[in-house]
Amino acid sequence: MRPSDGGGGEPTVPGPVRTCLGCRRRRPAAELRRLALAPGLDRARVVPDPCRRLPGRGAWVCHDDPGCLEKATQKGRLARALKIANPDLSALGRG
Ligand SMILES: [Zn+2]
Repeated sequence: MRPSDGGGGEPTVPGPVRTCLGCRRRRPAAELRRLALAPGLDRARVVPDPCRRLPGRGAWVCHDDPGCLEKATQKGRLARALKIANPDLSALGRG
């Protein structure tokens, strides 16, 4: 059961790995959805960042599990991850 060494030909390229803020699982970033602060607003509004281009800190939640977004927005987890006191979550449908 040792990994083959120097074989090559593996089709899967390991991309960046991120931790879901909801379930805390580590997954490839491609399977996660990025949340970030919308730039240029007075209030710290958290928005989905499908292009992953927004500057600053981001938080990640599972793409395929709505429960993760739910958990991530509870108990100030998002606030802590993004280092802001009172994030506006209305853009996430979580008034
Ligand atoms: Zn998750």
